[in-house]
Amino acid sequence: MNYNPAMFDYIIDLAVSYIRAGCPCLFHMVTGFYCPGCGGTRSVISLFHGHFIQSFIYHPLVIFTILSLLYLAAKRFLPSAKKTDTPALASRLAIAALVLVILNFLIKNVFLLMGTDLLSIAEKIQA
Ligand SMILES: [Zn+2]
Repeated sequence: MNYNPAMFDYIIDLAVSYIRAGCPCLFHMVTGFYCPGCGGTRSVISLFHGHFIQSFIYHPLVIFTILSLLYLAAKRFLPSAKKTDTPALASRLAIAALVLVILNFLIKNVFLLMGTDLLSIAEKIQA
């Protein structure tokens, strides 16, 4: 394949436009539906601002993951904590996280089909 400067410039322009647009979700742009990860970045940003409810609505996996990690750390490091099988507990939490992602994907898109955009509603919540 020969080097084509025009094609190279086109690809660079496309990449720069994508980054300047804030790296929007390609799945959402193409299909109009939310992907399983949509809202994740906004959820993290909301959490950093202390807006827990908004963060949860954007994507519940973020808060679930943090709480799960804190729980596992407490189980591991607190001497008073009841010692249980940590790998089995971590596996159950991972399965719960997967179920949460699937439910989040389904619920947000079902609401979207009914004309309600939950992520737009989340933008208005500052709690
Ligand atoms: Zn997405």
